[in-house]
Amino acid sequence: MTRVLLLGGTAEARALADRLVDAGVDVTTSLAGRVANPRLPAGAVRIGGFGGIDGLRAALVDYDVVVDATHPFATTMSANAAAACAAAGRPLLRLERPGWAERAAPSWHWADSHEQAAERAAQLGRRPVLTIGRQQLAAYLPALADAAVLARVVDPPSIDVPPNWTVVSDRGPYALPGELALLRGHRADVVVTKDSGGEYTWPKMLAAGELGLPVVIVRRPARPAGVLTVYEVDRALAWVSAGE
Ligand code: NAP
Repeated sequence: MTRVLLLGGTAEARALADRLVDAGVDVTTSLAGRVANPRLPAGAVRIGGFGGIDGLRAALVDYDVVVDATHPFATTMSANAAAACAAAGRPLLRLERPGWAERAAPSWHWADSHEQAAERAAQLGRRPVLTIGRQQLAAYLPALADAAVLARVVDPPSIDVPPNWTVVSDRGPYALPGELALLRGHRADVVVTKDSGGEYTWPKMLAAGELGLPVVIVRRPARPAGVLTVYEVDRALAWVSAGE
């Protein structure tokens, strides 16, 4: 039976793990261990880094194929997966949720980096809501130190934030009424997000649109070249099944 290593940490990865377990496939989901209380997928789970490309390559002795379903901004893990799979001769599939570029509205302002997003947000408002995770919050300090920032994160940030910043710990899925309440409650005048894509965090974009707020959106980073990519869980399931 094909042994699948599923690089996870996303809702898509959990959905694929469910489907693979239902289909009787031997799947192990790998999580980075960043979140204190991760939502665990069906099937086997391992937690923690592999130790770079060499560590992952060594771990691949226990697996036949790899599905990289990590977040579109988890670039190091994806690059390591591409390099390790090439070196170990393991087929690699990338499962990636579609980005939001096709839904772009005139009120969206694209940024190529978090630093650029911070500067743009500072130009657009004084009460930004940041939904960019906690790992990149430091990039927003220089431009937004004096702003009334509300930062929504899953786990508390590891940096000290200015006293005029509010940190809200929450975890999706998010729905439109809650997102409207969050933005209204903070009297937000600009929203900052990554182009995470998909539907799970889309309601905040709807809420921003409904309230007429500008959105600063950080473009997706470049992906490793030459990796077969699908955008739907069904397609990933079919790819694994075809190799069984
Ligand atoms: P990253 O910067 O690409 O990866 C940094 C290191 O973390 C990797 O080199 C690897 O360590 C370890 N790692 C990352 N994902 C892993 C996984 N699924 N299993 C085992 N080790 C993993 O990753 P990141 O942006 O910090 O994201 C970490 C995790 O959070 C990922 O699983 C991702 O899907 C999820 N996530 C990320 C974001 C985001 O915006 N970046 C958002 C939501 C969820 P070694 O080199 O030691 O192997």
